[in-house]
Amino acid sequence: MKEDTKIVKAGRNPDEYGGAVNPPVYHVSTVLFDSLEDFEARRTGKIDKMVYGRWGTPTSQAFERAVAEVEGGFDAVAYPSGLAAIAGALMAFVKSGDHILMTDSTYSPSRRVCDNFLTRWGVETTYYDPLIGGNIGSLIQPNTRIVFTEAPGSLTFEVQDIPAIAAVAHEHDAVVMMDNTWASPLFYKPFERGVDISIQAATKYIVGHSDAMLGTATATEATFDQLRDSARSLGNSVAPDDHYLGQRGLRTLAVRLRQHEKNAITIANWVKARPEVIRVMHPALPDDPGHEIWKRDFLGSSGLFGFVMKSVSHEGLGAFLNEMEHFGMGASWGGYESLVLPTQPETSRTATEWKPGGQTMRLHVGLEDVDDLIEDLDAAFARMNAVS
Ligand SMILES: *Cc1c(COP(=O)(O)O)cnc(C)c1O
Repeated sequence: MKEDTKIVKAGRNPDEYGGAVNPPVYHVSTVLFDSLEDFEARRTGKIDKMVYGRWGTPTSQAFERAVAEVEGGFDAVAYPSGLAAIAGALMAFVKSGDHILMTDSTYSPSRRVCDNFLTRWGVETTYYDPLIGGNIGSLIQPNTRIVFTEAPGSLTFEVQDIPAIAAVAHEHDAVVMMDNTWASPLFYKPFERGVDISIQAATKYIVGHSDAMLGTATATEATFDQLRDSARSLGNSVAPDDHYLGQRGLRTLAVRLRQHEKNAITIANWVKARPEVIRVMHPALPDDPGHEIWKRDFLGSSGLFGFVMKSVSHEGLGAFLNEMEHFGMGASWGGYESLVLPTQPETSRTATEWKPGGQTMRLHVGLEDVDDLIEDLDAAFARMNAVS
């Protein structure tokens, strides 16, 4: 089955719900059992039926199976946010005395899970240069249990050589995790490149409409039970309407993502030609340092990229940002609308330095007409230049 067909069909079975195209939304806490025998069979997991709302419903299963199928893993667990998926996956595979290797370019709240929280359980984290590749072996300790990757990196967009990192990590029996949110389940196939657990902030492209918080962790067959049992032990549960929005968003992901990709490449090239801009971080641009690995491993690019502009006063930055017509100023991304944010990657790095020589920015390019978006950015640069 080709990818665009798979994304339409995955996890959906209209025969099971009276012919309705979409899975019904089950609002469930209590499940009633027919008999003592039924109660015992369901509790022991011998039959694939509901047991209790928190343990999963046809709504949650439809979403989880759809994501797992498109991402190419064995099965998935949904979490109430992308960050909850990251924390849940990390906690599932470490115990006191263990060690985590995490890329220095990771989404910064993921660092806080390690630094502010797992440290209290005696789990230590070492941050590594995202471009370390096979040299990750020099940082692996006897107690290293997880090697956490993210490509491209949050805010700075370095492309990691995941197959090289995974090969070395597996020699040392470490679990390889990847935050695969940027590429979505469509444009990077983590399980073909050695990843054991792939995490999506489904809040972004899967939900796709800026209206729900949701996360997923998709696992290999060997790692799935440990991941799911840990999520169950911790009381993880997602509201049925959010599962529903996730599976609905997934159906149109392929067409949305191709438009985000096209618009973002146009905008990235336009931004790159501006005299105020020092560099653009977008791995699909041929002169990007990560371009070769991106071309080798990725199937496309999304709408999110960064750029660095010459140092600007606070007033100048305000002039740039404050009167945008189409770009909203907001965190998160992956919805249909364009967003802009000034960023400060230099404040979170510990293993590497980010010294771009100017102001780092992040754009999420939405589904608007690119001519309107370019006009908006052009006016922003003009307002900034009039001040500084
Ligand atoms: C937004 C984001 C997350 C966290 O997702 P939430 O749903 O906001 O918790 C994790 N990783 C990356 C790369 C993100 O951009």
